[in-house]
Amino acid sequence: MAAPMAGTQAPGFYRHKVGNYEVTVISDGTLTLDSTIFTGDEAGAEKLLRDAHLPKMGFTTPLNVWLINTGQKLILVDAGGGTHFAPSIGRLPQNLAAAGVSPAAIDAVVITHPHPDHIPGVITSDQKMLFPNATLYVNENDHAFWTSADIRGKAPEEFRGFFDLAVNAIKPYAAAGKLSLYKDGTEFAPGVRAVACYGHTVGHSMVRVSPPGGDFLIFGDIVHCVALQFPDPERSVAFDTDPPAALANRKRVLDMVATDRLLFSGGHLPFPALGHATRSGSGYAFVPVIHNSEV
Ligand SMILES: [Zn+2]
Repeated sequence: MAAPMAGTQAPGFYRHKVGNYEVTVISDGTLTLDSTIFTGDEAGAEKLLRDAHLPKMGFTTPLNVWLINTGQKLILVDAGGGTHFAPSIGRLPQNLAAAGVSPAAIDAVVITHPHPDHIPGVITSDQKMLFPNATLYVNENDHAFWTSADIRGKAPEEFRGFFDLAVNAIKPYAAAGKLSLYKDGTEFAPGVRAVACYGHTVGHSMVRVSPPGGDFLIFGDIVHCVALQFPDPERSVAFDTDPPAALANRKRVLDMVATDRLLFSGGHLPFPALGHATRSGSGYAFVPVIHNSEV
């Protein structure tokens, strides 16, 4: 039977129970990356991408945000790129609405790192707080770095916009007295705490969610392309602030989640971005959770 093509995607959110908390992974959309932004030999990268049925240039990488419901508090981790960075992202508001959550209900927004695909989504297109009742948590090192006019002035031209997007996103929360600077170990709610993983940025942090009966790690941006960096964790992205630290942390964290059989999620893992790491060859393979019709 003939029928019109839908031509639009289904809402992107997926719920998973972690102990007595509920975590909802929310898609903010997708970005495209080129193999040339990764370190490592090109022939090897081409082979890994070909094996994953991805092109060398312009392959899709997902962008994810998380909502943690503790039963008492709603904590958003990251906020995506909003309307300020790329047209293929900024889907958080519509996907949050589809998940039945109003922005006004959010108590806290924890930013893993204030890059342009993770923080601009805290404000609307007219630069107002999208989450009027939320405290915005930014790592203290990241805050000092990304709001520094001096560091911005010394940064390469193409990265200066990163600073402006971070400053604009933080500004209305700071003005409203709703900005809080966090550090390693800060607890945002019982069993929800920051774990330092500096390197990708000077304050890049993971969020460990470990309520009674559950354990889960949001590892932020230690991986930007599963196809390249799980089999070969030595491959890094060009825009790490401290490349050796970012590389060492990727290796350390992948080793930890594989050894501890810990469930994790990441900013650029394939949606719904929940899974485990298993050792494979000299690296790892990503083992996604199976879509479950029950939470
Ligand atoms: Zn990112």
